[in-house]
Amino acid sequence: DVTSETLDLKNHIRGIPDFPKPGILFYDISTLLRHGPAWKAAMSRLAALIAPHKPDLLAGIESRGFLVAAPLALELGLGFIMLRKPRKLPGLTIGLNYALEYGTDRIEMQADAVQKGQRVVILDDLLATGGTMAAGISLLRQAGAEVPCAAALIELSFLNGRSRIDTHFESLAAYD
Ligand code: AMP
Repeated sequence: DVTSETLDLKNHIRGIPDFPKPGILFYDISTLLRHGPAWKAAMSRLAALIAPHKPDLLAGIESRGFLVAAPLALELGLGFIMLRKPRKLPGLTIGLNYALEYGTDRIEMQADAVQKGQRVVILDDLLATGGTMAAGISLLRQAGAEVPCAAALIELSFLNGRSRIDTHFESLAAYD
């Protein structure tokens, strides 16, 4: 069966046309998540890429980023923090608005989630334009974190989101 040496991640991801709207090819990771050995192998590979950056904590972007960051945090023995959509987190929060193609969005985190100077690696399922990841990085820095690395399972290279990420960036599969 699949191991981290033999995994071909693209075999476990499907592109669904015209979702959530016409013209968008949606990269669906449900098929990866359904396949225990492939999911585990993908997590092992990502763990090996981010461990050299010596994170103190991992942050995941709601919601599919949680499915990447939480298992990785367990694998690496690290804590996990949530970057969430507005008004989901209790207690004192900080947030950042960011531009979308049409309109704006906002992410929030708990104000006390990181201590000054802690190294936080941020994760999502997919990097498209990079706007979401860039906002997450800015928010973590605003909270006092250092962000030595950002990573995603999938990268849409043709959108050049990587150019908006001003730290190391890693992905397991790139689509042109
Ligand atoms: P962006 O901010 O443009 O980099 O968009 C990244 C965010 O939107 C991630 O949280 C992804 O889960 C989601 N996303 C954007 N484009 C796609 C796509 N083609 N397939 C699946 N998810 C996408």
